[in-house]
Amino acid sequence: MMDRQQFNEFRERLLDQKQRVLAEVAAHLPSSDPIGDVEEKADRAASNFVETKIAANDGNLLQKIDFALARLAAGTYEQCDKCGENIPLARLEAKPSVSLCLSCQEKKDAGELSP
Ligand SMILES: [Zn+2]
Repeated sequence: MMDRQQFNEFRERLLDQKQRVLAEVAAHLPSSDPIGDVEEKADRAASNFVETKIAANDGNLLQKIDFALARLAAGTYEQCDKCGENIPLARLEAKPSVSLCLSCQEKKDAGELSP
């Protein structure tokens, strides 16, 4: 069980991370500049594709961070979302946005768990 200080530290780290991701997403949002010739259009489409992918990844991370914050508030932060086992604090410290214990994460990475 974590104490109040650890709770606050995790909360701050998650909020910090969230701010950074939001800034990153904002930096990659497609600009609304008027589009020039065809060549430029193609370039722009290609770079928009990359930007969209980045935004999607960041969006995923944002969801994870929000989920972690909700779990923190609900007092279930240290419990694996799948099996209910305790997630070691060291794992949470290394990656505050995780919601699965190591063995469930490995299963998920191997495609054995539905998201
Ligand atoms: Zn688990």
